[in-house]
Formats: sequence, structure tokens, C-alpha cells
Amino acid sequence: MNLDPRTLLFSLILTDALLVLCLLVAVYGQVGNKRRDGMEKWAAAILLEALVWIIADSRGSFPDFITIVFAHGFQAASYAMILAAICEFQQRRAPNWQYFAPVAVALATAFVLVGDIRGRFIWGSLIFIFQLQLIARALLSDKNTRDGRAWRLLFGGVVMLMLVMGLRALTALTGHGEFAQVTNSVALQPVQLMAFIAVMAASLLGSIGFVLMVKERSDREIMSLAMTDSLTQVSNRRALMEHAEHALARRSGLPLALLMIDVDYFKRINDTCGHPTGDEVLRKVAGRLLERLRGQDVLGRYGGEEFCVIAPDTDMSGALMLAESLRAAIASAPFSTECGELSVTVSIGFSLCSSNVTRDLKDILIEADNALYTAKKTGRNKVAGFGIECA
Ligand code: GH3
Ligand code: MG
Ligand code: MG
Repeated sequence: MNLDPRTLLFSLILTDALLVLCLLVAVYGQVGNKRRDGMEKWAAAILLEALVWIIADSRGSFPDFITIVFAHGFQAASYAMILAAICEFQQRRAPNWQYFAPVAVALATAFVLVGDIRGRFIWGSLIFIFQLQLIARALLSDKNTRDGRAWRLLFGGVVMLMLVMGLRALTALTGHGEFAQVTNSVALQPVQLMAFIAVMAASLLGSIGFVLMVKERSDREIMSLAMTDSLTQVSNRRALMEHAEHALARRSGLPLALLMIDVDYFKRINDTCGHPTGDEVLRKVAGRLLERLRGQDVLGRYGGEEFCVIAPDTDMSGALMLAESLRAAIASAPFSTECGELSVTVSIGFSLCSSNVTRDLKDILIEADNALYTAKKTGRNKVAGFGIECA
């Protein structure tokens, strides 16, 4: 394959320019609250990289001194900007020297080694590898995003660039400086061609990976908003029902218990202290219930002042113990609110479903609701079980 280096340089510039355009469309096309998620900085980094290729392409039109120093400065600034974009995404800031020192050293190295292509390739590559490992470490430090596929794409792009830079330094070290230079010969050497392809791939992989990483996080946040009750921060009804369906399908061994918890005379709290205090009580009730639950139990707000607990692997005596401990936890001490100390009680009805029967969630909910009605009828601040194993 006889590829022309200038055509390849042009395609690199074009790729970067199109990437910048796409990134800017993504940044300014965002709906709702604009958040600083690093996308603008990433676009700036790709723009700086495009400038490096434009400068490389204009070698010969300007004095070498200018093109060499500027190309090194812009390349280092591009990597510093990538680090800044990742740090902004992670909502933290790296120490200032990590951004500025490599740019200063790259400029100084290029300045001192203007006439020494071999030295420039070795030292330049080492500086860029140092910057890339700062980026890789920043990526590795973020445990929240490390599991995503986008993260792997981005990390892969960074590792690939590090390998190319290593190869570039090695080629120069073994005395083949001209191989590592992108526009030196008409017919491309294999190392040059590899470098071209890797740089273009890393740009694309990195940018797509970064945008996807931002998207993955916002998807997770939207999902969590859609599944969380905004007042109490426990699962909302939709999440609760989804969880219950899963738990029903996964039953093994011991039965599944479903507890319906209703705050007694809650309307009175609203009537005497106002809705905001009612809300405060609901938040605190949810908090106290959560403290008593076991690891496998899930609490959700079923609606209004009603909560629901899905308790897997729980038999009759376990469900009774759990319900009793939740009831006692609420009744044990008053809640301190803006309206003073308020004594609150709950009534709990529960139903069980053994592992060897197929049941509709709807029916189990009706049973728990009937049991709750019994608890209310027999005086409130009580626990009642539907009681019969659903065989
Ligand atoms: P019972 O012991 O029979 O359960 O009596 P109750 O007063 O608790 O039940 P009732 O169904 O009569 O009243 C429930 C009240 O809960 C009525 C409604 O205004 C109030 N409520 C529902 N959702 C909210 C909420 O999000 N915040 C507040 N503050 N009140 C709410
Ligand atoms: Mg109610
Ligand atoms: Mg009630």
C-alpha cells in the first residue's frame, strides 16, 4: 500500500475537525440543566490536536523553529486538556502542575532540541507518555465509571497512544528518527503508517468513549431518579413492584414475605402541624425503618403514608419478627420535628408466598392489605399476618 503522508495528515485533521463539531453539537444541544461534565474541555483537546496536525502539515512554510515548538506545545496542551476534561467529569481537580509542567517541559525540550530530531522524538515521547499515564491513572481512580463499556473504550484509546509513543521513542532510540516522523518521506514506513492509524483510532475511540461515559452516567442518574421516591429517597412504587416481581421469580427455599406498613392517624399530623411536618415525619419513618431492615430486604414507598417491604427468604416466624421489630422501632421513641416531639405508630400487615407456588404479585398485595386492615381494626400499632402459607 502506497499511502501519501500528506493525505493521511489531511484525513487526521478532517477527523479531528468533525469530532470537534460533533462534540460541540452534543455540548450545546443538551437539554435541561447544563452541567460541567468535561465535554467542552474534551472538544478543546481535540481542537488542539487538530492544530498539531495542521502545524505538521505546514512544515516548510514556516521556520522549523516555530512549527516544532508550537507542535510540541499544542500536543502537550491537548493531553493536559484531556486530563482536565476527565477531572471535570469526575468533579475533582488534579494538582495544577499536572496540567502546566508537562506543557512547559515540552516547549523547553522542543526549543532546546530544534536541531536534534532524534533527541526530540525520545524526550517528546517520554513527556507525552508521562501525561498519558496521568490520564490513565485518573481514569483508573474512578470506581463509579470503571465498570462501564465506555470507560474501557476510552482507557483502550489511552493505552494505545502510550504504546505508539513508546514505539516512537524506541524507533528514534535505535537511530531511525526519520521513521517516526510523520511527513518525512513520500512512501510511508510501516512504523509511520502504524502511528497514523493508531493516533486516528485513539482520537476516535477516546472521544466516542468519553461521550458514552458521560451518557452512561446521565442514564444511570435518570434511571435512579425514575426509581426513587423524591420525598423519602427509598424505592418508589414502580421500583418496588419491579423488585417484587424479580424476587417472586427468584424464590428458593424459604418463602418471600411482603409487608405493608401504614402510618396510623397520619392525617392528624397534617391537620395539626401542616403538610411540611407530615413530609418530615414520612422521611424520618422511612429512615427508621431502613435502620432495622436486613441486607436482603427492600423498602419502598407504596404511596401516601404507606410503605412496603419485600423480604426474601423469610418464613412465618421471620416475617413476624421483622414486622414486630419495625413496629417497635417506630413506636419506641417520638420523632423530633419542627412541630415538636411527635409520637408516631404504624400498623403492619404481611403476607407470605412459599417458594414452590406460582403466585400473582397482585394477589399477595391484596392479602397483605387485608392483613393490614385487620391490624388497623384491632387497634392500630399492631402487626397482623395473612398467616396462611400460600400452598
Ligand atoms: P389510618 O390510621 O386509618 O391509616 O389513618 P390515616 O389518617 O393515616 O389515613 P388516611 O388515609 O385518612 O390519611 C392519609 C393522609 O396522608 C391523607 C393525605 O393527605 C396524607 N398524605 C398522603 N401523601 C402525603 C405526603 O406525601 N405528604 C404529606 N404530608 N401527607 C400525605
Ligand atoms: Mg393509608
Ligand atoms: Mg394511615
